[in-house]
Amino acid sequence: MVFTVKASQSVALNQIRPEIRSLQSNLVEWRRRLHQKPELGFQEQITAEFIQQKLQEWQIPHQTGIAQTGIVATIAGKSPGKVLAIRADMDALPIEEANEVPYRSQHEGKMHACGHDGHTAIALATAYYLSQHQNDFSGTVKIIFQPAEEGPGGAKPMIEEGVLQNPNVDAIIGLHLWNNLPLGTVGVRAGALMAAVECFRVSILGKGGHGAMPDQTVDSIVVASQIVNALQTIVARNVKPLDSAVVTVGELHAGTALNVIADTARMSGTIRYFNPELETLIGNRLEAIIAGVCQMHGATYELNHWRLYPPTINDKAIAELVRSVAVEVVETPVGVVPECQTMGGEDMSFFLQQVPGCYFFLGSANPEKGLAYPHHHPRFDFDETALSMGVEIFVRCVEKFLGDVV
Ligand SMILES: [Zn+2]
Ligand SMILES: [Zn+2]
Repeated sequence: MVFTVKASQSVALNQIRPEIRSLQSNLVEWRRRLHQKPELGFQEQITAEFIQQKLQEWQIPHQTGIAQTGIVATIAGKSPGKVLAIRADMDALPIEEANEVPYRSQHEGKMHACGHDGHTAIALATAYYLSQHQNDFSGTVKIIFQPAEEGPGGAKPMIEEGVLQNPNVDAIIGLHLWNNLPLGTVGVRAGALMAAVECFRVSILGKGGHGAMPDQTVDSIVVASQIVNALQTIVARNVKPLDSAVVTVGELHAGTALNVIADTARMSGTIRYFNPELETLIGNRLEAIIAGVCQMHGATYELNHWRLYPPTINDKAIAELVRSVAVEVVETPVGVVPECQTMGGEDMSFFLQQVPGCYFFLGSANPEKGLAYPHHHPRFDFDETALSMGVEIFVRCVEKFLGDVV
């Protein structure tokens, strides 16, 4: 998608209520503070302490230590009713930050290069605002601060530890700051938003020998090369043309010298798709191709194939709730973007398997300010104006979902 809209020229903040606009400086402060102390999955101690300290300060009931570092804050409205959960992830990545900014990462080799520092700040400000406006809604809002989204995944253990129960969650929403969209836009759609993530590692076991005497060997490099090529036919020839899928071999290692035939080749890769029905098809084809090519050459193999995250699939009604709120908040010519699917994956998907919900993208790129590097890039940064937009959208979702029926 190519956007020609210059975000800074067209973003209107007048739909953000003054009280939330006044939280912008806090949002920036919290986000930058978290940005300086990035922590990897399940190691979010400083982050969790910071969240806890704020929740205590604001006297918001909360539970800590869920899935190690996860926290859930509970904000009750004026009377019993439905329960809406808001999910924010809080982990960073093993990347050395290349940005020269005052709030640069202080943890060597670690960086908030995906924007989860922003997600945490938005969720905190949302918790604060709602705690000050408990009379504006009925029912309960649960704010879930989740560890380890980047891996190995904190959503599943949080669910297993009962985060969606007591009180039972009726719907869940969450957002990702998104540098593939300009500031002032929201990407939301019903159905699949992000792909399933599967991984595989395979060792091709041949028979090594002299580079000049291939007849005495089973060349694992030749076998592996043919497997790499043959795997391309899964998407090209097995998956329905109207379904989207990816099979990527990201690593291929073999050999020690130019005149030695390698006895073992190792490769690894990732599989992505939206349609849950492809889970079996792609997995079966993966192994059939590896087995078939190995058999053809007299090699054997060891395959390890595992499923990381299912596809992130939005509920139609909750996606419509978010969309209807987002159109009120963003006023750019691009506005709400329904064509925002990505083959990236998310463990928000586990929450969405349990309860209806919607995950959406909040445009955060601003090329004019040099804030347009992709996620996971050592120069990733985003336009912090998006922070208060995120809070406004969350709060409006709460008001609409838990508001009084007139
Ligand atoms: Zn990420
Ligand atoms: Zn992320």
